[in-house]
Amino acid sequence: MGKIALEEHFNLPEFSDEVPQYVSPEIMKDINRRLLDLGAERLAEMDAAGIDFSLLSLTSPGIQGKIDPKRAVADAARTNDTLAEVVATNPTRFGGFAALPLQDPAAAAAELERCVTQLGFHGALVNGYTNIKDADTGWYYDHERFWTFWERAEALRVPVYLHPRDPLAGNQGIYEGHPELFGAVWTFTVETATHALRLMTSGLFDRFPKLTVILGHLGETLPFNMWRIAHRAAAMGDLIKFDKPLTHYLLNNFYVTTSGNFHTQTLNATMAEMGADRVLYSSDYPYESMREASDWFDNAALNDNDRAKIGHLNARRLFPNIPEGIGHGESAPELGRRSR
Ligand code: MN
Repeated sequence: MGKIALEEHFNLPEFSDEVPQYVSPEIMKDINRRLLDLGAERLAEMDAAGIDFSLLSLTSPGIQGKIDPKRAVADAARTNDTLAEVVATNPTRFGGFAALPLQDPAAAAAELERCVTQLGFHGALVNGYTNIKDADTGWYYDHERFWTFWERAEALRVPVYLHPRDPLAGNQGIYEGHPELFGAVWTFTVETATHALRLMTSGLFDRFPKLTVILGHLGETLPFNMWRIAHRAAAMGDLIKFDKPLTHYLLNNFYVTTSGNFHTQTLNATMAEMGADRVLYSSDYPYESMREASDWFDNAALNDNDRAKIGHLNARRLFPNIPEGIGHGESAPELGRRSR
């Protein structure tokens, strides 16, 4: 089966100094090398993992880490133009998620529209809150200053992938003395789940009910905690700014991917809460191995129907402009070599 993967990262050489030291220096060196490869090695990894199509995104924190709005706007445009060239060289293997300068919400809306209507991108991936003015100040996207951006995403009918980044310095106190808990180990999860809850509880999805947000890592723990969150939120009286039970938004405005969370028990719990139609395959390359992700997914104890939905059918429905012939598993010469 040819899979479609959504959380697959790249970097540009000019931004190499801006990627945090997420893991040990030795492993990070290999990751940084792989982030820059948008050709033969990446395609060979995809072939070996049975991945037909990868939606590429600028690695975290990317444009969200720029403190100067003007530089953010210029860097986002240049990144997206470069990504469009990469996609054009392999249009049956690569698609693009826009990098967006949310330091300037109106500019981000315009850049999203340009990327979707002119560059053929499939949506956007944003790396958590956006810095503004300095590294200690961040804007979260539930604020009304972002309504113009969300309105445009809804009108364009494209999803926005809410990808992790580490918390602001002012929110790191609980981790004092525990640097090993940063990044994908734990801080990403807390940061991103909380950001998603801010979107839900702000009433954003009442204002824009057709908006779609994607979370990686099997939903950053939200599918397993949603009942309790919704149950207790319902008792918050005048603090409630949203119209529906919180579970409604998870089930109607969110998709989750398997990125970096290759565990069948967790996948089963996610499907039990959200249904197989709301789960999408991803690896999280090069922070994770495409082959490890696929060895797990291809052999997990799932029925064939659910495996096809998560592997490619749901992605085809969510991204109707993915080229024909991808994800059907039939012979398609233009797709290149296949391992299975
Ligand atoms: Mn990732």
